[in-house]
Amino acid sequence: MIFRQLFDPVSSTFTYLLADRHGGEALIIDPVLENVSYYSQLVRELDLKLVMAVDTHIHADHITGAGHLREVSKCMYAMGEQTRAECVSHHFKDNDALVVGKLVLRAWYTPGHTDDSYSFVMKDRVFTGDTLLIRGTGRTDFQNGDAGAQYDSIFGRLLTLPDNMLVYPAHDYQGRTSSSIIEERVYNPRLQVHTREQYIEQMNALVLDPPAKIAEALPANMSCGFKQAA
Ligand code: FE
Repeated sequence: MIFRQLFDPVSSTFTYLLADRHGGEALIIDPVLENVSYYSQLVRELDLKLVMAVDTHIHADHITGAGHLREVSKCMYAMGEQTRAECVSHHFKDNDALVVGKLVLRAWYTPGHTDDSYSFVMKDRVFTGDTLLIRGTGRTDFQNGDAGAQYDSIFGRLLTLPDNMLVYPAHDYQGRTSSSIIEERVYNPRLQVHTREQYIEQMNALVLDPPAKIAEALPANMSCGFKQAA
């Protein structure tokens, strides 16, 4: 398998490029607009054909590159059926399989950070978006975030995956790149709660500044990353 974890230093976003082989079809998860030419170059250099760009959710901290990648490489732009982003070309739902070459990613609806958040499960790894971060969880205070739903997504679904399953989140702000289900269950401070109510209280007590780019990113991401005319 070809697997590249790419990093956008401005928004601390991870973008993942996956393919089953050189010369094969590729999928990209959570591309960032400013890096589209880099992704396109890498796809060319690895002799891949980009067939699908996926966003785990509508991002508030960066503008998606998926719409522009679709223009450049004629790939499909896929998001979950709950998304309010317009112009997405394929909507998946909970438990749908995203198939790219011989790769299969199972889409799991994992709301909480937003109401359109998905995770993607493979045999040995899971892409958790902002639902489950390394030693953290995504904020739930805007974009129809819901701490209770996030508890259900994490405790009811993601933590049911095998202990050694690798965890690849959409962000990290401290230089960490991956984790595993058991590490997060044991060491993630947000997950050391005894009840759903405790988790909700903990999330509701957070006082966080809005993401720097939210005013620009949200409207742009509603239209696939194309900035709207003023
Ligand atoms: Fe997010």
